[in-house]
Order: sequence, then C-alpha cells, then structure tokens
Amino acid sequence: MDPAELLALDAEHVWHPYAPMPGQSAPLLVTEASGVRLRLADGRELIDGMSSWWAAIHGYRHPVLDAALAAQAGRMSHVMFGGLTHEPAVRLAVTLTELAPAGLEHVFLCDSGSVSVEVAVKMCLQYWASSGRTAKRRLLTWRGGYHGDTFHPMSVCDPEGGMHSLWRGVLPEQVFVPEPPSGFTDPPDQSYVDTLAAAIERHADELAAVIVEPVAQGAGGMRFHHPGYLSVLRELTEAHDVLLIFDEIATGFGRTGEMFAAGHAGVTPDVLCLGKALTGGYLSMAATLCTPRVAAGISRGELPVLAHGPTFMGNPLAAAVANASIGLLLERDWRAEVGRIEAGLRAGLAPAARLDGVTDVRVLGAIGVIQLDHPVDMAEATRVATGLGVWLRPFRDLIYAMPPYVCTDSDITAIAEAMVAAAGSS
Ligand code: PMP
Repeated sequence: MDPAELLALDAEHVWHPYAPMPGQSAPLLVTEASGVRLRLADGRELIDGMSSWWAAIHGYRHPVLDAALAAQAGRMSHVMFGGLTHEPAVRLAVTLTELAPAGLEHVFLCDSGSVSVEVAVKMCLQYWASSGRTAKRRLLTWRGGYHGDTFHPMSVCDPEGGMHSLWRGVLPEQVFVPEPPSGFTDPPDQSYVDTLAAAIERHADELAAVIVEPVAQGAGGMRFHHPGYLSVLRELTEAHDVLLIFDEIATGFGRTGEMFAAGHAGVTPDVLCLGKALTGGYLSMAATLCTPRVAAGISRGELPVLAHGPTFMGNPLAAAVANASIGLLLERDWRAEVGRIEAGLRAGLAPAARLDGVTDVRVLGAIGVIQLDHPVDMAEATRVATGLGVWLRPFRDLIYAMPPYVCTDSDITAIAEAMVAAAGSS
C-alpha cells in the first residue's frame, strides 16, 4: 500500500498510545527494523535510542532470536496453559528462578507488564486473605512511580502523572509517600527513612504490600535513587508484616548495570515483576515471581489457587524467544556492554549540563536522561533528533534514551548528540 494512504488510514482508524482519535500525531511509518536501526517508508534510517520502549536489548532481527522463533513456530505456536505445559515455559521458569534474587522460586507467566503487576497485587491480597487478615488490602508506594495502565497498576502510578486524576473515585486508594531523594550515589537520607518508617508503621494493619521500582523509576520521571532505600524497605516491611513487590519490568535484565536492580542492594523482595526485555522485545510476555512463603500462603486459603489465568499465558513462541534472549545476554559480557554504554552516554551527554534550561543530566547503566526546567516541545525535539538520524521519545520535561545493548560506540555518540541537540531546541 502507498505510504501516504497507509498513514491516512492509520490516522482514521488506528488508536496509538495516549493519543486522540482520529489520530493527529503523524507517526513515522516503519517498514523494517534490523540491528539497532529502524527503516522508514521514506528511506530514512534511524538509530533506535528507545529499544522500543526499553525492550529490544539485542536490537531487531537478531539471527539467534529469529532462529529460536522460527524453530518454535515449527513445533507449536500456542497451546492453553491450563492442564497443559511445555518445555519452553518450564525452561524459562527454571532460568528465571536461577537468575532472580535468591528465594524467588515460583513463576507466573503472563502477557504484559501491567498484568504481571496485577498478578503481583493479587498474590499479595490473596496471601493475606488466606490467613484471615482481610483488612490488609492496600498498597504503599513512593511517588514518581509508574507500574502500568490497568487499574491496580494505575492506582500506584504517580498521582501527578496524568492518569490518576481522571480515575479518582474508581481506582483503589493507595498510600503514597514522597519519592526518595534523587541520586544513585547519595546515601540514604535519615529524615526520609523516618518518613517511610512512620508511613509503613501507621498503615501496617491495612497494607498488603509496598510496591516500588527499585533504583530507577521509569515513566513516572526517570529518577535514580540509592540502593540503600531498598534495604530499608526490606527491613521495614519485614518488621511490620507487609509484603514487598519490586517492579523490575523496566530495570530487569541488566538495564541498570545489575541483572536485576535489586542486586545493587542484595535484597530479595517477596514478589518480582518482569517484562519488556524478557523476550528481547520480540513478543509480549511478562512474569511474576514469588517466594515459597507467598505461594504457600495462597495455597492455604479458602480458594487455594492463584485466581488468574490469561488465554496467552506461557505462550511457547514468547517463552522460546525469552530463553534465547536470556541465553544471548548470559553468553556475552552484558555487564561490560552496559558499562560501555554508560560511559558513552556520560561522555556524550556532558555538554547538555551547560545548556540553558537543563536542570540535570543523569546516567545509570544503559539509561541516559536530560531534565529540563520546562516541558519538552515534543514535535520539535523529535524533528531535531530524527534530523540527526536518531529515534527518541521525550516526555514531560525529560529527554532520555534507553538504547539496545548492541549499540556500537558511534551509535551511542549519535544518540547522545541527538539528545543534546533536542534539549538545545526545546
Ligand atoms: N512497570 C514498569 C516499571 C514499566 O516501565 C511498565 C511499562 N513502561 C509497566 C510496568 C507496564 O508494562 P506494559 O506496558 O508491558 O504493560
């Protein structure tokens, strides 16, 4: 079909995320994606600084992932998971329990990050309900978070983030505390720890769990904080009989420089959510892991099963690609790769600190962020970045990149230059 016609039909019929209908955002038409490059219908090629929303860590059309997908498609594409099982899912569950912080031994395979958070919440609520503590059904989180777009996840997203106000009165009312002071290397602030402790203590009787994105908050504001806050949370939740959920959908699989961000603190949560890079960004799959304590608690209940069962649970194609993607990650020196990207982003983004209107430049692992003191002009920033051959998706007052780990040094330099130029134009 002619590109102009496709785009006209897209605007008329296709709903894009956070977009009005009919469409007005004039998306770019992608015809192919290979390595770290997106090819557009008009012939341009863009380096993907976003890893397709932080998922495509090995880039596109990776021969190993393509082969794993094709081989699995030749055996079976999907079977229901109720009453049936298969090797790709079993292998994946075993691998995840081996890689995850010690003690997370049970894996629920679902189909998106938001659903994995829903499942995590259900696990915690069911855990308390099964021991008769039905009042423990609220969640506590810190501000600046993002956990997905379905209802429970939305209820723990940053209340100022845009979605919350629309659903006031419909979403479960959760307990919010301020976000921890920013700075990966700034040791925990005692007065903040006291605030956290007071809130958990005050609400302990009604709290099922605390849920946070460990070390790096993503779509709620791209902030980093010291891993010490995770140890503090672990101690406080244990002391007050509250479960702890880490949402590592964005941070999992090496993004912050540890396989999982919890590893910066050596902390094991009761429940762990994974998604995005799980399949190297190839297919929609997510996972919720929990400890034997949580699983045993649920199994003691009046309804001794976890009450969730998505149609596409444990999809064999997605599981096979996830196994191959994790294999690739482990086979290569992913720490060195992420470290190289971190160094490249640090060097490349340094000039942004001298720009008017830039309040902060921060880098952690393969995440680079330029923060402005005003909202980004998204159309202009995108025009500038694509003009330099780079795909970025700024939001609010943030221009950021989470590139694929297979970017070369010159790709990273190009991404950083485009970010700095976009910041200069905003
Ligand atoms: N949690 C976090 C930390 C995320 O970054 C996201 C997605 N940006 C989600 C949950 C939701 O995942 P999904 O978009 O796959 O539903």
